[in-house]
Amino acid sequence: MSRSDFELKTPQQLIAMRKAGLITAKALEAVKSACVAGVSTLELDRIANETIESFGAHSNFQLVAGYNHTICASVNHEVVHGIPAPERILEAGDILSVDCGAEIDGWNGDSAITIIVPDQSGQVPDTDLVRARRALSSATDGSLWAGIAALAKAERLGEVGAAIEDYIEANGKYGILEDYVGHGIGRSMHEEPPVYNFRTKLLGPKVTPGLVVAIEPMVTAGSNKTKVLADGWTVVSKDSSDASHWEHSVAVTETGVWVLTALDGGKSRLESLGVPFGGLEG
Ligand code: MG
Ligand code: MG
Repeated sequence: MSRSDFELKTPQQLIAMRKAGLITAKALEAVKSACVAGVSTLELDRIANETIESFGAHSNFQLVAGYNHTICASVNHEVVHGIPAPERILEAGDILSVDCGAEIDGWNGDSAITIIVPDQSGQVPDTDLVRARRALSSATDGSLWAGIAALAKAERLGEVGAAIEDYIEANGKYGILEDYVGHGIGRSMHEEPPVYNFRTKLLGPKVTPGLVVAIEPMVTAGSNKTKVLADGWTVVSKDSSDASHWEHSVAVTETGVWVLTALDGGKSRLESLGVPFGGLEG
């Protein structure tokens, strides 16, 4: 295959990929349940790994050269690639993005969620800062689903980025990262083609059944400029503004789209958006 080629998946291969996607979703669900003030990001990493291994799968993040963890845990102005650490204790009201992936039977899932950390009693502080963080996370999540909805109707993949950008612009004064983008996914976690979170001059490849992409808007409450910390991984906003990251691995099928890393395959959310659910089982 040349660099610009990518593999379209057969229905049987998509069903195999759904297994990896569902395990990824369950790992993130377990992380979300355990996420409370006082917990360290390394403990969340342990929980994600335990969940993935309980299904006979393994972490694909650990296969990335030089990375030894199951999740990336990015707190507040950290946008992506935050490294879990025992001394990184979460506080109530923190905005935490968790990115995770599982591999099973040679297929990959990749997904990310943003959590506003609750206190020990499950409450989230009611402050202006927390309200702003909620709005940022909600706009980023909404833009992901706007991108997924666009994928269902798109002729060309570039329409996804345009939909994400339009959604973000309509929902606040935010920065969409341009240094990092989504990607194809399948036998490897990162494959062609790139999936931009913004409008470009590139039409992108034709959208046809069998295309599987990880759509992952990374959005800040300020500037879209970033820098990498001295640890060589953690990406932070240059202006220290808060950040949110949401991601799903999404397949195009003959009948619609199938959100491989959503617990329900995306069914309920797609229905609310008027987008055909294209799940191949259940
Ligand atoms: Mg990811
Ligand atoms: Mg990804």
